[in-house]
Amino acid sequence: MFERLPAPFGLVRHGVAPDHQKLKEPIRIYEGIARTPGFQLFGNVTIGRDVSVDDLRAAYHAVLFCCGAETDRRLGIPGEDLAGSHTATEFVGWYNAHPDYRDRVFDLSQEVVAIIGQGNVAIDVCRILAKTVDELKHTDIAQHALDCLAESRIREIHLIGRRGPAQAKFTTKEFRELGELADCDPVVDPADLALNPASLAELEERAGSVAKKNLEVLKGFVTRPVRGARRRVFLRFLLSPVELQGGADARLAQVVLERNRLEGGSFQQTARGTGARVALQCGLLFRSIGYKGVTIPGVPFDAKQGVFPTRDGRILDAAGTGAPIPGLYASGWIKRGPTGIIGTNRADSLATVNSMLGDADSLNTGPKPGAEGLPTLQGGQAPRVVHYADWQVIDRAEVERGAPKGKPREKFTRVAEMLRLVDSTCS
Ligand code: NAP
Repeated sequence: MFERLPAPFGLVRHGVAPDHQKLKEPIRIYEGIARTPGFQLFGNVTIGRDVSVDDLRAAYHAVLFCCGAETDRRLGIPGEDLAGSHTATEFVGWYNAHPDYRDRVFDLSQEVVAIIGQGNVAIDVCRILAKTVDELKHTDIAQHALDCLAESRIREIHLIGRRGPAQAKFTTKEFRELGELADCDPVVDPADLALNPASLAELEERAGSVAKKNLEVLKGFVTRPVRGARRRVFLRFLLSPVELQGGADARLAQVVLERNRLEGGSFQQTARGTGARVALQCGLLFRSIGYKGVTIPGVPFDAKQGVFPTRDGRILDAAGTGAPIPGLYASGWIKRGPTGIIGTNRADSLATVNSMLGDADSLNTGPKPGAEGLPTLQGGQAPRVVHYADWQVIDRAEVERGAPKGKPREKFTRVAEMLRLVDSTCS
């Protein structure tokens, strides 16, 4: 297993919210796999930079890419990159101690925040902004983030969807949590519960659907008594950002939103602007509109979809002939695009591995050297490879650092400090 960071586990470590520790259970499965004879971890190794795909193919009979969707979709509107406008990815990486985002700065002195998008990532961002320090301090949230959140002056969080409540992407369990926060009230305009006929048909056609359950939660939010909590989350629908505008200091001052109506039949409804505009003054905005995969040199890439082109998990050649490249496979978001929860990706991986097993006879063209056949991992220029035993050193140190604070772990946030630790312990 090759991983560009010294720590394994990808999104489970750096994406799953710190207050959702149960969702980190797949780590136990990884730990079981790591004990399998023949398993090797090569952490701190970037494929396409430290090791080429051609070298990997020469060293192994099969190569499976599970590299996810590392970058973000863009809104494509004026002002998108103003100071104060961030991607959800940056914020999630920052509070989850991802080394790439360690030094990002978010102005939490702002009182009003907008979040664009209504998927589970938007909900995660919203919940972390809305929670009190007491609700977060015993999670594995990065200490630097907890310290900043402790000083937060945020009062209003606007969670903005371009379509209606029946089309919101969040799952019900996650949505319901917005009503269970210690010092934050959800706010819904009752008018938003009046659905158009196509949306009503969507709810009728799929009894027990997530949308139907979400609507029940939303109704509960409308009717519950207002507690006067310090913070409020405004659930806002049928609004698309059309421009982010800066103030005199060139920082984000407001987002201009266009009111939408829904067009199209049930399950096909898209948001269409009505021309009517409203402005929301806010100094901080998060774009949470989905991810996109990135290319790796040596692997065909579908730039439009942001995925590796595949059939049944087999990566297809770049010439567009539809022929699979022998020995190259993909699973997860780099195969299907950035949708689905952890369980979805598990089933997806099984399907790819079944394809690989089906190809086993044709792939077995004689012995291959494995990692020993990777020239760039040997010699003075080679990266400091983090093996599983090294990771276990980092893991134990993180757990020890967290214990006095009542946290499951205090993650290291810099690659250099993790490498220093393994060097001092293992050499
Ligand atoms: P997502 O579920 O696809 O949600 C993206 C949101 O962005 C949708 O509301 C979408 O609206 C909106 N959007 C897209 N383009 C837009 C635009 N140009 N303008 C305005 N809004 C736009 O993506 P995600 O939240 O990044 O989550 C990715 C996957 O990870 C999902 O499957 C999610 O369930 C999963 N996840 C799960 C958990 C969990 O289980 N706790 C936590 C985090 C993430 P439309 O619907 O109109 O396209």
